[in-house]
Amino acid sequence: MATFETLSFRKTEKELVVTLLKLFTAKMPLEEVEAIAPFEVPDPHTINFKKIDVEKAETRFSFLLDKYFEHLTNKLTGNPVTYIHRNSGIPLIGNVAFGIVYRNSSIIEIKPVTSCNLDCVYCSISEGLSSKKHDFVVEKEYMVEELEKIIRFVDEPLEIHIGVQGEPFLYADMQYLIEDLQAIPSVHTISIDTNGTMLNKEKIDALAKNDKLQLNLSLDAIDEEIAKKVAGVQSYNINHVKEVISYASQKLKVIVAPVLTQGYNEDQMEKIILFVKSLPKQPILGIQNFLRYKTGRNPAKEILWEDFYTLLEKLEKKHDIKLRLQKEDFNIRKIKPLPKPFVEGDEITAVIKCPDRFPHSVIAVSGERNISVPGCKFVKDKKIRVKIQRDKHNIYVGKLL
Ligand code: SF4
Repeated sequence: MATFETLSFRKTEKELVVTLLKLFTAKMPLEEVEAIAPFEVPDPHTINFKKIDVEKAETRFSFLLDKYFEHLTNKLTGNPVTYIHRNSGIPLIGNVAFGIVYRNSSIIEIKPVTSCNLDCVYCSISEGLSSKKHDFVVEKEYMVEELEKIIRFVDEPLEIHIGVQGEPFLYADMQYLIEDLQAIPSVHTISIDTNGTMLNKEKIDALAKNDKLQLNLSLDAIDEEIAKKVAGVQSYNINHVKEVISYASQKLKVIVAPVLTQGYNEDQMEKIILFVKSLPKQPILGIQNFLRYKTGRNPAKEILWEDFYTLLEKLEKKHDIKLRLQKEDFNIRKIKPLPKPFVEGDEITAVIKCPDRFPHSVIAVSGERNISVPGCKFVKDKKIRVKIQRDKHNIYVGKLL
């Protein structure tokens, strides 16, 4: 009998459907599972092989899991997914989409998952239900272990920012991850960017037990139709998100972070201010200017910074509220850099481990770092020669030689 917390099983006529962390599925042909031994699924997290030694069954079943997790897909989008765990041979440093991003500052970013349940018009990474990118999900224990190594290296008080390419609460282990971070003495703040759609009072109560936690919540409109249009999905429920903001602000530190996108929600900013001011406990409001990104959907022109700040100043005076957040509000310090195993210009050998976010691009591994290699066919475990083209902040891009 084997029980798995992060996996669930469903037997169909032809397949065993395995779901990882509630969001990612792999399908195994029944005959391959039955080739191990006859089995039953007495509850969704347990698989019970009969007439076979338990250890033997587990070994053979792990082998099947490895094989079919190569074809893991995201239930929301059908996109392929790579599961990054302690035995995957994929480090957590080197890629901007997953793992740990350390920019020599006292805020370390962690990214345990990619994927989003919205499709915001302004999304700077074109994430969401229409995304066709490759997704990643990281084993929680692996993330915490690797992060702790960096925290020991830094040896200073730190903020951990959970800023994923997508919606972080799609990660089923998020509550446990936050609890683990809360328990690390040198972590003084855990901040998380969320669209709020997956939160409710019960979840907020559980999160609020972590007094280092700060929620950065999106709110781009008050009018229902405009909110749906900006979120890019008809099912977006602004009233639910407003309730989440109201309740969370009473329990936790909350920053409400609208993105002002020309042609979409200019007229909503005053309504957002009035909403925020009407709450029992007023959260911080930090209106952001929409910026165009190479990877973004870019539905609008940027507002000139000068005009943007003039607008904020006008709104601040009219509504007696602070809207311009300064660097000091975030308490960011420079800290010692992480060692780089190689630098721009180096030619190295690396091993292809998985596809990267974008098509025709792979992640190759060398010196405990991930290197994005565009224009390279995915052949697992193939050795390639690459020339490092980017090494800034230990985020690596290499050219196939
Ligand atoms: S919620 Fe965030 S990640 Fe998701 S689509 Fe909107 S901007 Fe992108």
